[in-house]
Amino acid sequence: MTLRIGIAGISGRMGQMLTEEVAAAGATLVGGVCRPGDDAKGAKIYEDIAALAAASALVIDFTHASTVIPHAKALAAAKIAWVLGTTGLSAQDEAAIDHAALSIPVLAAPNFSAGVNLMFALAERMAAALPAQAYDAEILEMHHRQKVDAPSGTALGIGLAVAAGRGVALNDVMVSGRHGHTGARKDGEIGFASLRGGQIVGSHTVSFTAANEQISLTHHAFDRRNFATGAMRAALWLAGRPAGRYSMKDVLGI
Ligand code: NAD
Repeated sequence: MTLRIGIAGISGRMGQMLTEEVAAAGATLVGGVCRPGDDAKGAKIYEDIAALAAASALVIDFTHASTVIPHAKALAAAKIAWVLGTTGLSAQDEAAIDHAALSIPVLAAPNFSAGVNLMFALAERMAAALPAQAYDAEILEMHHRQKVDAPSGTALGIGLAVAAGRGVALNDVMVSGRHGHTGARKDGEIGFASLRGGQIVGSHTVSFTAANEQISLTHHAFDRRNFATGAMRAALWLAGRPAGRYSMKDVLGI
């Protein structure tokens, strides 16, 4: 029997691509949920996430941060595996994901591309090797004009990797969107800047700048398909695993 997959956010940009990826992988698309009135291009729409969960073995979820807590509860209650791509998550959302992962397998990723996940791993190594007092870490991201959250989930993921490499908590050192009389940059800050425009799928750069040298890593996503194929790969990897919280590092073996 093929894997029965439901898509939360099925009418969205990611949801529509995911319907194609499910078919390409030979899995069964059971349908999805979306905001009332959205055009789901003929896919079966369920009344709510609980009804979708009851029909699925796994749910791929690219919706809006406001849905994360109810989705965590519904999927944990139904014992359904959860691949979560939604970004803009709060600390309460993260806690709800952790709680769900006690009873179901969950793979949440701010970015499903192989290149970006390699960037997370490399940024952590760079941060561990380059002392925070000498190397200023700054993260720049640019996305399409429809994006509703900033900094991007991916930029935050890079920030978390840098913070992990330095053995600090990101919240203690994060400075986002400098404006006005900010004072001089402090040692150890991790700076974020967000640009918005046009239809840019996602560009991220992390730079470590010292007095005499700079090293940067840049990733450009050219097409959202990259995220959809990554999420589908994650779904196939996650199905049948024991409860727990997994990451793209586990899928990619990095
Ligand atoms: P979109 O606006 O095109 O689609 C959002 C979808 O969610 C729609 O189907 C909408 O109906 C649905 N939705 C919104 N609120 C809902 C609610 N309350 N209940 C049920 N359904 C609801 O957005 P998109 O570009 O497809 O992105 C969706 C999310 O995925 C965003 O958070 C985005 O940042 C994130 N994203 C993550 C990755 C990744 O690799 N992790 C890649 C791209 C986008």
